[in-house]
Amino acid sequence: MRIVDKMNRVKQFISLEFFPPKDKKEWPTFFKTVDTLSQLNPLFASVTYGAGGSTKGDTLEIVSRLKSEFGLDTMAHLTCIGSYRGDLQQFLDSLAQAGVNDVLALRGDLPGDAPPEFSACRTLLHASDLAAFIKQAHPGMGIGVAGYPETHPEAIDAEHDLRYLKLKLDQGGDFVITQLFFDNELYFDFVAKARAAGIDKPIIPGIIPVVSLKVIQRIISLCGAKLPAAYLAELVEADRQGGAAAVQQLGVSYARRQAQELLAAGVPGVHIYTLNRDQAVLDLVQGLLPS
Ligand code: FAD
Repeated sequence: MRIVDKMNRVKQFISLEFFPPKDKKEWPTFFKTVDTLSQLNPLFASVTYGAGGSTKGDTLEIVSRLKSEFGLDTMAHLTCIGSYRGDLQQFLDSLAQAGVNDVLALRGDLPGDAPPEFSACRTLLHASDLAAFIKQAHPGMGIGVAGYPETHPEAIDAEHDLRYLKLKLDQGGDFVITQLFFDNELYFDFVAKARAAGIDKPIIPGIIPVVSLKVIQRIISLCGAKLPAAYLAELVEADRQGGAAAVQQLGVSYARRQAQELLAAGVPGVHIYTLNRDQAVLDLVQGLLPS
């Protein structure tokens, strides 16, 4: 069953996003984290795809193992920028063989040190091209796409960004997962504008627990989301007074309040960027949904 079909059968859900640890020595700890978090009964778990396909093999192995060893329904992220169609086809075929039915279709970003041949094979330029490619290669596969409540950093403007979001969905996308955000009003406004633009598919908010100042500052510098000034000031003060543990405590309660408000407003579910952390995610999610 595709994730979108599962979504339609439950009242509300949480889903979890993991990234492949760089060093294989970290895998046993990573799988322990997965084991702990699988008790939260997520609707699905997704696994990221390193820039330019740098984690391709690891993404494939992890997404397959989360399914076969932990019984989780899984979704692999996949980026198309700088990729050959044959390689994309092979990745999709391997997913299908492993019983992974869903893909998050992304454009991705060119790595900073991308060699010239990278651009020579840019036949799929946008996530909408990848969605259409997947639809043709594996018509039964479910497709998620990315949405940006604060507008994608390269977009001409919010209106064009929404137009291209609609295109991705029209080309085969079944649902949207949003970029992380720290102000729920941004999400509510984004959904209202998307509906007005004719987008009627589920839009799942993406929420991240802040677990360290350094980590979150790096993440927002890469993705363009804004940390509200008052919240940043609170995090800095927590760090000054209680160090990393105090930052995590504040970050988790903030994300928990965000998730509670979103669920109370009737969102289909909440997608948690887990950062591969078990305790922070347990604290965020425990008891959020009736078991
Ligand atoms: P697109 O939808 O192609 O949009 C990119 C830009 O091009 C936007 O500004 C859009 O307005 C514009 N655009 C779109 N279509 C057109 C068109 N037809 N003509 C002109 N302009 C157009 N990155 C990774 O490398 N690996 C991951 O695993 C990963 N996971 C992610 C998960 C989520 C939930 C999100 C929100 C992002 C993730 N990313 C990941 C980051 C993502 O790859 C980047 O944000 C990237 O810059 C854009 O990807 P996209 O799929 O949104 O691109």
